[in-house]
Amino acid sequence: AKEAGRGRTDYYRAEMDHEREERNRLEVDLRIAIERREIVIVYQPLVEAGSWQLIGVEALARWTRRGYGPVPPEVFIPIAESTGLIDQLGLFVLHRACERMARWPEIKVAVNISPGQFRDPAFALHVDSVFRKTNTNPARVTLEMTEGYLVQNPERARAAISKLKRLGVKIALDDFGAGFSSVGYLRQFGFDRMKIDKSLVDGLNDGVQAIEMLQATVALARSLDLPVTAEGVESERQAMQLRTIGCDELQGYFFGRPVPAEEIDRMYENGRRT
Ligand code: C2E
Ligand code: CA
Ligand code: CA
Ligand code: CA
Repeated sequence: AKEAGRGRTDYYRAEMDHEREERNRLEVDLRIAIERREIVIVYQPLVEAGSWQLIGVEALARWTRRGYGPVPPEVFIPIAESTGLIDQLGLFVLHRACERMARWPEIKVAVNISPGQFRDPAFALHVDSVFRKTNTNPARVTLEMTEGYLVQNPERARAAISKLKRLGVKIALDDFGAGFSSVGYLRQFGFDRMKIDKSLVDGLNDGVQAIEMLQATVALARSLDLPVTAEGVESERQAMQLRTIGCDELQGYFFGRPVPAEEIDRMYENGRRT
């Protein structure tokens, strides 16, 4: 029994070493991919809730790891965050999106920023320099952020957000309703928009209580004069309900999955003709 016990310990230790090694390799490959600019940006349509017209896109990062295949953002974004690679990656995504949006002059572009990017005191300066280099009107850009950092470090978050807002970009609170969302934060940080998390939208399928929860959340945003985007909209029924509840903007597979920029070129042209 003693022998077997030791064997097990060794086994777990080997397993842990293996995991650590695998993570290190993933990190090395991600660093290389960012340096070689192998991260690709896809764009998901944002539509106006009443007309279903294309009014914007959200830029989302994609990584196909050499020799392995696609790695989901839920895996590589946290690695980028914990290793500091997120600064470079985040600005790269912003840069690419700004270059591309020159082709879509009538719609806006949303880009995700990680809380970690606020740790760089020069973040707003870097953002400004991307806008200048790409000749982008900041008013057409929305930066989406989750509330994690607001809770952790409200002072720094407030300073960073107000610097960004002075550039003229819009700031949206992403994934609202997914965690411990606090109303206080909504008011004091000067957000321009709230994005309702998919988990709340999914609730539309499961009955009265969840619908009331969603209604209350949207009503709250509207009482603060915040326009609301609902994400993860997968059916026409949900789209109708969300519009009735008071969301002005919708996003989800029902309207379109994240697609390469060329597909947005086509959608944009079609939207203009009709
Ligand atoms: P997010 O910002 O909440 O982005 C929305 C996610 O929901 C995207 O997943 C999108 O593909 C997915 N989605 C949209 N509509 C639907 C729907 O109707 N049904 C379902 N099942 N899913 C839908 P994705 O692209 O895998 O990205 C996951 C997360 O990774 C993003 O969540 C965001 O937090 C993060 N991420 C992606 N790109 C970047 C980036 O460039 N920078 C940062 N900081 N984070 C990023
Ligand atoms: Ca987002
Ligand atoms: Ca979101
Ligand atoms: Ca999300």
